[in-house]
Amino acid sequence: MIILSFYPAGESGRSWVFYLPAALQLIIFVITFFIKQMRRVPIAVNYIFLALFVGVVLIFCMVSLIYSQSPYTTRFLLYFFVFEVLLIFDALVSIIGNFAVVAGFYVICRIFPPDTFGGIFKNWHFDLCSVGMAAVFSIVLNWFTSYMHIKNWILAQSLTAERNRYRDESVHDMLTGLNNRRSFDQSVEFYISVCSHVHQTVCVVMLDVDYFKLYNDFYGHPKGDIVLQSMGNVLKRLVDEEHVYAARVGGEEFIMLWTENRTIECERIGLKLRQLIIDLKIPHEKSKAAPYVTASIGMYIMRGGAKSTPEELYRTADTALYKAKEWGRNCIVLYDSNDGNFREVNLRNYKELRRE
Ligand code: GH3
Ligand code: MG
Ligand code: MG
Repeated sequence: MIILSFYPAGESGRSWVFYLPAALQLIIFVITFFIKQMRRVPIAVNYIFLALFVGVVLIFCMVSLIYSQSPYTTRFLLYFFVFEVLLIFDALVSIIGNFAVVAGFYVICRIFPPDTFGGIFKNWHFDLCSVGMAAVFSIVLNWFTSYMHIKNWILAQSLTAERNRYRDESVHDMLTGLNNRRSFDQSVEFYISVCSHVHQTVCVVMLDVDYFKLYNDFYGHPKGDIVLQSMGNVLKRLVDEEHVYAARVGGEEFIMLWTENRTIECERIGLKLRQLIIDLKIPHEKSKAAPYVTASIGMYIMRGGAKSTPEELYRTADTALYKAKEWGRNCIVLYDSNDGNFREVNLRNYKELRRE
């Protein structure tokens, strides 16, 4: 590009207006080269020099355009030169830039009358042709680099997509689309550490489908999978409406986590979960708890002051769930770290669904 700057510009000869920008380019190029050799140079310095370089190149182009007397060859080289400047950037950017310059040039030619700037747009058809040719020539010349860049870019895109897919699958359950046990283990630590720090209550709900083995045995495994998906949808609804965290942590076991200081609110969400499952009205002939698929729910309200580990939290919610199974299934058993007792939540609402 620097050599091109010294290209004789028609009959006007080798004027200082050509040499000055060319010399400036050379100086900036040399400084940039040495800066690149140095380590720990702030990125801003690189950008400043890049901007200087591009600025000088643009001045050179303008000067050449205005002072050139026999413009055809010079212009072709000039446009080519502009496209070469674009190659400072990523090859893909430069290709897009090439087409943008051609388009921009066409627009400028159409906006300005042919006699503007001493008639430099007089032969605009020819100019447009040279710009287009220069762009194509520039792209072909740098084809290999561009090709490699595009190939690498496409490869990087597919690798990123693949990596995101693996990352997604590693924390999600494939059957229900909910978070999985691994995700829960990570989230529960976060909940406990943040909530104990700001003295906020953590509420945990553990849910297990009642007589699910009997359901599978009677209706078949594929139908059982559909039940689990329906459970997943109920939990997703609560994620949307109540802003809870939900995960499938076992075969037919699910968990929900959220923060709420008011006991009544925790109970409300627990009851809503139970009601939504009942409302699914999935027939379960073999259940001894109800004519429909139901779930037992263990609930643990861990107050801000209580210092529990994730294992303790899981175990306590599991114990509450075990009690719910023991106390007849299709019910909610709550353990509040404040009073240290297990108690059933609002039994009367769903008594009519029990077979007693
Ligand atoms: P309980 O009311 O005491 O919970 O009885 P249960 O039959 O639900 O409990 P149990 O632990 O004996 O049975 C759990 C069943 O869940 C056994 C297994 O066949 C079923 N299961 C686990 N994972 C899946 C799954 O991904 N799909 C289906 N269809 N069934 C599953
Ligand atoms: Mg189970
Ligand atoms: Mg079960």
